[in-house]
Amino acid sequence: MSKDRRILTDEEKKHVREKYKNCCYICELTLDGYENHEIQYDHIYAHASEIPGGEELDKFAPIHASTNPEKRNCHGGKGTKSWFEYKEEQLIKKKLKTISGLKDLCKSAKQCSFKKISDTEVELNGKHIPLYNQKLYGRDNLYFFDEIYIEYLENDNLIQLRPLEADKILPLTFHLRSSIQLLPSLGRLDTKENKIKIFDGQHKAVAQIVGNNKKSIPCIIFVDPDITTLQTTVFDAHSKFLQQRYKRSHIIGKLAEQYKAKVEQWEAIHGNAPYSEIDILKGEGKTKRRNFILASIRDELSNCGAFIEGKYNFEKDFVDTTKKKGARQNPMLWDNYERLISLFVNLEPVKETYDSPNNFRAPEIENLKHLLGLMYWFAIKDKWNHANPDSESHRLAVRYFYDKVFEVYGPILVKALRYSYEQKMDRALGGDEGLCYREQFSEDIKKRFARIFERLFKHGMWANPTYTETFRSTTSGPIAELFTKEGLDYIYLTRPE
Ligand SMILES: [Zn+2]
Repeated sequence: MSKDRRILTDEEKKHVREKYKNCCYICELTLDGYENHEIQYDHIYAHASEIPGGEELDKFAPIHASTNPEKRNCHGGKGTKSWFEYKEEQLIKKKLKTISGLKDLCKSAKQCSFKKISDTEVELNGKHIPLYNQKLYGRDNLYFFDEIYIEYLENDNLIQLRPLEADKILPLTFHLRSSIQLLPSLGRLDTKENKIKIFDGQHKAVAQIVGNNKKSIPCIIFVDPDITTLQTTVFDAHSKFLQQRYKRSHIIGKLAEQYKAKVEQWEAIHGNAPYSEIDILKGEGKTKRRNFILASIRDELSNCGAFIEGKYNFEKDFVDTTKKKGARQNPMLWDNYERLISLFVNLEPVKETYDSPNNFRAPEIENLKHLLGLMYWFAIKDKWNHANPDSESHRLAVRYFYDKVFEVYGPILVKALRYSYEQKMDRALGGDEGLCYREQFSEDIKKRFARIFERLFKHGMWANPTYTETFRSTTSGPIAELFTKEGLDYIYLTRPE
């Protein structure tokens, strides 16, 4: 698609905007207040198979694409998907936010009409279906298989479903679109109530219902089974017999590499049950634990590709790794980069296992990327220019990254961000509670943070020629005095407009 993307004329752009009622295709919010260069006009289909007929121009749509962090950019997370697929994904995500499990989709089952015709056949809602029997410990276990309409299904309250992990639904939805569903959901028919209760396979069911608009789903249904046996079976299937099917956080991955012996020891005692950072790092000293966690976070950041404007990786492009004195190729000193990260993250091993929804190692990285992106936007972009070292803007950027200058404002910046977060959430953060170790920052929090970076780096003192020598000081004392004199503290940075 992008290879031969057509460039639209102004007239065509106007037509496309009107067609979308002057709103962004992805978020459906207005395009008012967006300059031409802040809107992208893109073909929404990537594959020929998705493309319905009609005029080619009809396949273009306007999308927010501002590079200003205060404005909307609806490109984040799209990756290599087409806009059409991406939009669908957003819609499914939105729907998923309103449900906590199959119980919200199938609130209360309709009674079905059920009749056992013979030992090998049943009638369900007028349809004849083969019945099978598997004898277990001398007891009959009758079951049948069918596609069952969702109004006849409900959540089993006796055999608890595993909690829904919403982030599994989306990939499952797309997977089930292009491949067959190998395993049906499992349920039981209670012939006293004539209701079908689902006790396993709710992820598949939710993916098919929410993501693929299915009205019926494939099920294996046991007829009045022994509940206790089923409870044990379901429990075992999701503990002992479960292979490593969870996505491990990068830290857990590293833990396994470096602490293989410890992990094996753990597994010898606890089986394949998910483990946590604490389980494995327990015997290590505090410094070692913290160094270990910092190193794996840093490693993850440096290997996650270009996360800034799709072009830059902060460590690779803006951190000076040469450790040589003299003019730097990249603005930020290595030690300062590590220090900054360590001030943002949670350096303590966490007790939540790697599969737990309350393990925030993955969003922690996303949040960190966002803060580094702001650092780039306000302190480096259009300023740092190694090819033109005498330019005023380059000199400004040099000043921002002097070792002693950073030493002074680094903690002020971190304190301001934490304070701003606390104000917004109306609760104090614990001393060891890393700012980034939590759910992904909301749009509102991101805006607050952008304002803090802006206030810090756009402050008049940076360009004031009378301070040039102060910034070059080899001790932090005079620089700290300057910040105090100018009133540049965390209160100033977080003050409402
Ligand atoms: Zn948008």
